[in-house]
Amino acid sequence: MSMIKFLELKKITDRRSDEIHRAVARVVDSGWYLQGVENTAFERHYARYIGTRHAIGVANGLDALILILRAWIETGRMAPGDEVIVPANTYIASIIAITENGLKPVLVEPDPVTWQIDDRLIEGAITSRTRAVMIVHLYGRCAYTERIGEICRRHGLLLVEDNAQAAGCRWQGRRTGSLGAAAGHSFYPGKNLGALGDAGAVTTDDDEMATVVRSLANYGSARKYVFKYVGRNSRLDEIQAAVLDVKLRHLDRDNERRRRVAQVYYDGITNPEVVLPPVAHDPASDIYHIFAVRCARRDELQAHLASRGVQTLIHYPIPPHKQECYCEWNGLSLPITESIHAEELSLPMSPELTRKEARKVVEAVNEFR
Ligand SMILES: *Cc1c(COP(=O)(O)O)cnc(C)c1O
Repeated sequence: MSMIKFLELKKITDRRSDEIHRAVARVVDSGWYLQGVENTAFERHYARYIGTRHAIGVANGLDALILILRAWIETGRMAPGDEVIVPANTYIASIIAITENGLKPVLVEPDPVTWQIDDRLIEGAITSRTRAVMIVHLYGRCAYTERIGEICRRHGLLLVEDNAQAAGCRWQGRRTGSLGAAAGHSFYPGKNLGALGDAGAVTTDDDEMATVVRSLANYGSARKYVFKYVGRNSRLDEIQAAVLDVKLRHLDRDNERRRRVAQVYYDGITNPEVVLPPVAHDPASDIYHIFAVRCARRDELQAHLASRGVQTLIHYPIPPHKQECYCEWNGLSLPITESIHAEELSLPMSPELTRKEARKVVEAVNEFR
């Protein structure tokens, strides 16, 4: 019996193999490996794609988020000790970016239906120290709402988007990553726009933010050997930029192929024990980074699917506030977040998953008793 893998990166790379090899060879042969023409080209193309004035290539998605908050600290928009509102059920990187800067994450429960930050709970979490709201387009679905934009405007809060899982996702025709004051993007290999290693970007319309992030990512220097900030080294290398520029050209088509897989799941899965993700208001906006179903007997479902040759993953088994690294919050009770972490299961999802494979997943899910 052949296994249906959760995600096979090799298949994704193989389909663009010639283009990718040519891009890599071009950089190898050029003799120029950092901060060159490949970076400039990818940044220009990615900014145009997202719909922002600037895109700044950085080393990874976590750094992108760290640098955005750090830039606001350096420019006096916030200070260590200030609070950032963030969904409690996010991947831990969103939270690390906040605590890394000496800022305080204020964990807000998600909406039990959409699993995105519950915009009805945000105002209640605002204090005199709140400076920003970080929304996370988890699983490749838009977390932004009119109400979130309105709350940020009314309370003078900065809106930052964690767009790590949502490259290509839309909100009313605009791309996520262009909806707030700045956004962090990850090109980790398993993301919808994946590099062949670590990579990330910051997008923003704010000229000052762009300048400060660019120098912070380069040791705090805008001019060679002149240091304005105590920065770090977080650069996107030329090989990854060249590969990403190839893959960006195919991103919309790849996301469309993911949508077709999702449609097979929506049409076929009828098991009453398995709750499917709600269909987005605008189905064309969802990019299905992860197809997250929920099941009260999740672990049994996962074992059943494995026995039928279907590999699944859990995103994520332990919420951030229950992690050892954040032991100060271990006593917090966030029941909706905790139930998601107890019941979530991610079905195979990839632009390379065939209709036949998706149907086999459907059959296996429907056979679960
Ligand atoms: C992947 C991810 C990140 C971090 O990106 P890296 O490139 O792995 O550093 C941040 N936030 C979310 C929600 C992610 O899924």
